[in-house]
Amino acid sequence: MSFGVIDQLDDQGEIGSDTIILPLNGHPYGELEPQGQAIAAAEVKLLAPVLPSKIIGIGKNYADHAAEMGGDVPAEPLFFLKPNTSVIGPGEAIVLPPQSELVHHEAELAIVIGRFCKDVPRERVPEVILGYTCANDVTARDLQKRDGQWTRAKGFDTFCPLGPWIETDLDTSDLAITAHVGPELRQSGTTQDLIFNVTEIVHYVSSNMTLLPGDVILTGTPAGVGPLVPGDEVEVEIEGIGTLINFVHSERTS
Ligand code: MG
Repeated sequence: MSFGVIDQLDDQGEIGSDTIILPLNGHPYGELEPQGQAIAAAEVKLLAPVLPSKIIGIGKNYADHAAEMGGDVPAEPLFFLKPNTSVIGPGEAIVLPPQSELVHHEAELAIVIGRFCKDVPRERVPEVILGYTCANDVTARDLQKRDGQWTRAKGFDTFCPLGPWIETDLDTSDLAITAHVGPELRQSGTTQDLIFNVTEIVHYVSSNMTLLPGDVILTGTPAGVGPLVPGDEVEVEIEGIGTLINFVHSERTS
């Protein structure tokens, strides 16, 4: 298990026959040090591209989603934590826990932090971002309502698919973001509609807590969240990054 730089994606920005991976010596924070031979991407199993110390989720950060949840748009970024044990990678299974009857997908742009930081001024936010990946902020909607706070609903194992890789060169001002479940388009938004954009989010969150290299901030989901059932295939696609695909299994016995 190691980090690598992915290169030569195909015309659609996906893995193609020419795609290669350059293994890195050590971690991707700071100067990248490629080492050894390039490997054909077809011979590599991609894992989650980062194992964060913490995952911060921004709630109600698209007006259309805040409306579908029956709530107002927050005056300041509203954030919560997901444990790092919820992370899975591309192609892995989201497991529906027996405690919940209603688990939803939430397609989100994820910010990956690249360096230790606190109190980041807006103009220095680009310096602390390693890049961006796709995320699914999987949520047990019934438990979110019942518990009155969100830790359990957002925190089950497998409830934070991340991937397929980290895009380090990306303008996030207007990116299409979609979620498909099977052939059905469920969510279709653009990051242009973020209430708090990437700069505001990193500035605000870092004014409240220290961020470490590899920490992940989920920027919120557009309207169209909906249920996942066993056997579903769920795809989160973000323009300029790629497509994160996961499958849904059940831990329920009946
Ligand atoms: Mg969310």
